[in-house]
Amino acid sequence: MPTKRGADSRRQDFNEIYEEFKPESAAEQASRCSQCGIPFCQVHCPVQNNIPDWLNLTANGRLEEAYELSQSTNSLPEICGRICPQDRLCEGSCVIEKGFDSVTIGAVEKYITDTAWENGWVKPANPASEKDQSIGIIGGGPGGMAAADLLRRKGYQVHIYDRYDRVGGLLVYGIPGFKLEKDVVERRARLLEDGGVTFHMNFEVGKDATLEELRAKHDAIVVATGVYKARDISLPGSGQEGVVPALSYLTASNRKGLGDEVPEYENGTLNADGKNVVVIGGGDTAMDCVRTAVRQGAKSVKCLYRRDRKNMPGSLRETQNAEEEGVEFVWLSAPKAFLGDGKVTGVKAIEMHLGIADATGRQVPQEIEGSEHDIPADLVIKALGFDPEDIPTLFGAPELEVSRWGTIDADPITKMTNLDGVFAIGDIVRGASLVVWAIRDGRDAAVSIDEYLQQHAVAKAS
Ligand code: FAD
Ligand code: SF4
Ligand code: SF4
Repeated sequence: MPTKRGADSRRQDFNEIYEEFKPESAAEQASRCSQCGIPFCQVHCPVQNNIPDWLNLTANGRLEEAYELSQSTNSLPEICGRICPQDRLCEGSCVIEKGFDSVTIGAVEKYITDTAWENGWVKPANPASEKDQSIGIIGGGPGGMAAADLLRRKGYQVHIYDRYDRVGGLLVYGIPGFKLEKDVVERRARLLEDGGVTFHMNFEVGKDATLEELRAKHDAIVVATGVYKARDISLPGSGQEGVVPALSYLTASNRKGLGDEVPEYENGTLNADGKNVVVIGGGDTAMDCVRTAVRQGAKSVKCLYRRDRKNMPGSLRETQNAEEEGVEFVWLSAPKAFLGDGKVTGVKAIEMHLGIADATGRQVPQEIEGSEHDIPADLVIKALGFDPEDIPTLFGAPELEVSRWGTIDADPITKMTNLDGVFAIGDIVRGASLVVWAIRDGRDAAVSIDEYLQQHAVAKAS
């Protein structure tokens, strides 16, 4: 990996923690690749990046060609290089991992693309010809951005509608700056705009227009709204001051970092400064909360997770980073109640052990009788995952088919829903997932929409 800043320095700011590779280190790292005949790294990369070829070009100092190749399969390569859980994807499948550390593929991908930006090789869309058909994309997160990128390059008129004031979805308001600095997302948004994508910000579909109204305006629609309904646990003391959902907490911190006025941060409701903080959960969101709390100057930060380290859903690399920064993990522990008299003072927790596996193969956590204990806390952050909002009702489109979990049903290949010309991608189809999967979906949808609109044009002409 490139040099990682020391934990003491990291705790002081929200800047990214890895420095950029030096050219010779990137070439040396890339040259470690064995150029496998069957590259398992590529098989396990959701966008099927041609990893061995761009590593080879990097090893030989041919960075512009490496960039051209890497961007041909990924609309946001420097973002994936920063925040993909590579240990579970490309790098986790690298065959030289056993006995040696795997090739640090993500860091090289980031290096190639950051170098391309510095050298002006990253260019806005400049389609060979303009098409008069237009596409409305609901949601400007990574899925919507990837679909917009490809559709605009094909010459379509692309409009992104988003209820937020900034483009990027969770890249801006969920994921903290120490994993992904915000100017990295902003320059991508500018690139789309420079390439002719039209943004309609502060525009909430369901409030400012119905799905039907947008369908009447555009030749195709992409729904890329993500999942935002926080999962909750109903425990005694839940409604008290100081028990807050993770995304509200992270959004307040990100907005503060972007220079916005954030009253909930200023008045301490969503600010960990000087507090004993307990975060409940073991996924990426929980990791982001604990590390944000450390940077805000919390007195202590504990992460309560009902399974153990081996069975946590979050990235192991991020857990290690959190531990280095001073976070204490309380494995095999679950909350039973939130203590306090209107204002939280602690969490009553119980120890767990892992029992027999359920139908999914995961061992079921079970309470250890009599092991209750109290953990002091003035801020408790619930990071228990997200569910979709009720999109058919919200969009005024009860005929839109959804699964029993509320995610939109879309064809796995074409991404088309049951409504003609309406496509759906990213978290709103998969449930809470990963940035790289949203990008893959966005690119696949762009290819299907192109075919769909071409067929329509032929049918209209004949
Ligand atoms: P989103 O990014 O959620 O974007 C959806 C957009 O739609 C938003 O801009 C929203 O404002 C807009 N929208 C919603 N409803 C409407 C409406 N009615 N009208 C108009 N606009 C609307 N993934 C990783 O790969 N690596 C990580 O390290 C990682 N860390 C994460 C940390 C946190 C805290 C969270 C919450 C998630 C993390 N993820 C991570 C997951 C990742 O962010 C998501 O999988 C990804 O952003 C999904 O992309 P999307 O485009 O489907 O949706
Ligand atoms: Fe690895 Fe993600 Fe890059 Fe694919 S997109 S090569 S999984 S870092
Ligand atoms: Fe190179 Fe590892 Fe991929 Fe093989 S699996 S091609 S060694 S990066």
